[in-house]
Amino acid sequence: MHTKYIFVTGGVTSSLGKGIISASTAKLLQARGLRVTIQKFDPYINVDPGTLNPYEHGECYVTEDGAETDLDLGHYERFLNVYTSRANNVTTGKIYESVIKKEREGVYLGKTVQVIPHITDEIKRRMLLLGNTGHYDVVISEIGGTVGDIESLPFVEAVRQIQWDLPDEDCAVIHLTLVPFLSAAKELKTKPTQHSVRMLQQNGLQPDVIVCRTEHHLTPDIRRKVALFCNIKPNEVIESIDAKSIYQVPLAMVDEKLDEIIIRKLQLNAANEPDLREWKQFLDKLFNPQHEVNIALVGKYVELQDAYKSILESLIHGGAANECKVNVHSVHSEHITPANVAEKLGGMNGILVAPGFGERGVEGKITAVRYAREQAIPFFGICLGMQMAVVEFARHVLGHPEAMTTEINRNTPCPVIDLMEDQKRLTTKGGTMRLGAYKCMLDKPSLACQIYGKTEISERHRHRYEMNSDYLPELQQHGMIATGRNPETGLVEIIEIPSHPFFIGVQFHPELKSTVENPHPLFVHFVKAALEHSRRQ
Ligand code: GLN
Repeated sequence: MHTKYIFVTGGVTSSLGKGIISASTAKLLQARGLRVTIQKFDPYINVDPGTLNPYEHGECYVTEDGAETDLDLGHYERFLNVYTSRANNVTTGKIYESVIKKEREGVYLGKTVQVIPHITDEIKRRMLLLGNTGHYDVVISEIGGTVGDIESLPFVEAVRQIQWDLPDEDCAVIHLTLVPFLSAAKELKTKPTQHSVRMLQQNGLQPDVIVCRTEHHLTPDIRRKVALFCNIKPNEVIESIDAKSIYQVPLAMVDEKLDEIIIRKLQLNAANEPDLREWKQFLDKLFNPQHEVNIALVGKYVELQDAYKSILESLIHGGAANECKVNVHSVHSEHITPANVAEKLGGMNGILVAPGFGERGVEGKITAVRYAREQAIPFFGICLGMQMAVVEFARHVLGHPEAMTTEINRNTPCPVIDLMEDQKRLTTKGGTMRLGAYKCMLDKPSLACQIYGKTEISERHRHRYEMNSDYLPELQQHGMIATGRNPETGLVEIIEIPSHPFFIGVQFHPELKSTVENPHPLFVHFVKAALEHSRRQ
């Protein structure tokens, strides 16, 4: 079977959950035995989101091959349990970068280089790239932004041209819109959907399916109205009502027959029913927890849910694996002081100190680590969280009050976290951190080895600074040990305090590899430790 293409566009507003609809569609096709991948096209000019502040764009998701990408790729991996790669996220910046490079190489010699056809051709090339590998039956492309945005136009035009190029049965367009409920009129309103579809049609695209995000069920009348004015059949108008969990959306889409409509349109050779047994087992555990724990997530971007998306999802996976409801308490690291830490973190069964960059909130993180260490509360430090655990231990156990990472104090007399030589030489910021998957060897016995159940692991990284192994003998002597190391460089990737019930810090980002069907062992065991803590109270 040759590759078929699905394009997912959005109308009316942003944040409707195009990523979840794309991931759910992919999940249903995968559950019917098809090989599916999803890619995201982002209309902004940054070459990748690595240089964006989380407040701008939520978390930056890192792939195995070290690409800094949009957080929707995290949803794709968590739903499909299949890795994405550098090829799965394309921005306007990347498109222009390659067109301009070709122009300088003389590829277009004699020609004026223009948005149409040169930019749109490059977008088309990228849209078809994964399909051309022969690895997939279906490639889903999510188009970021909202139809009608000036910056989305070349992407919509590229989709139009692909739709024109390909046989009808090779290409489908799903359009996601909002059907708002006006409480004064007590009515669902279809006009914004009509307008956004009209905009799509003006650009030459006819949707095959319209998915309506709504807070109330769509009546048959509403479906008929949307269908009539948008030129599709009523059964192709699909309701996507607010769900308790994003993981329910694939099942809701089965009820609405989204998969059947797509399979029919694309004439896909698929199983009669999606096999969602494992998925349903997960949901069953998620919605029927036997236990409950309170976990503090200490970070500086806590106002914005999306900034720690993968960590929050990993806690959900880890919770379900333990049949345990995880109440996540977001605690702003800037607001934690030695005077109020007991009040803020006192009732917690686990403390997770989050990744981050820069000085803001760092002292609060150190205070949180100290509290977890001294009060024997399960502790999990990720990246900067691990680095702050080392700083805290150096300050309060080794007695080096000036211990710090050189990221924050370049001249500290006690640089327990420092830049490696190759990082010191770098002058540019984009894509230059230690990025992507690296091997790590675990010591035996250790908490890490017990958790993973093996001695060789691979995890994804995104950081510049590293633990300074000059301090390792002193740290180890006082009870903080290194239990995971990079086999090539010897860099310390995991630290533990064996005398503590559960204290682990990791230089990598385990949250990037937790999926519904494969919850990450560190999160599973962290929740388990929190559960044991709750029983001791
Ligand atoms: N800022 C730290 C570094 O660059 C930690 C990064 C992170 O937490 N992702 O090493």
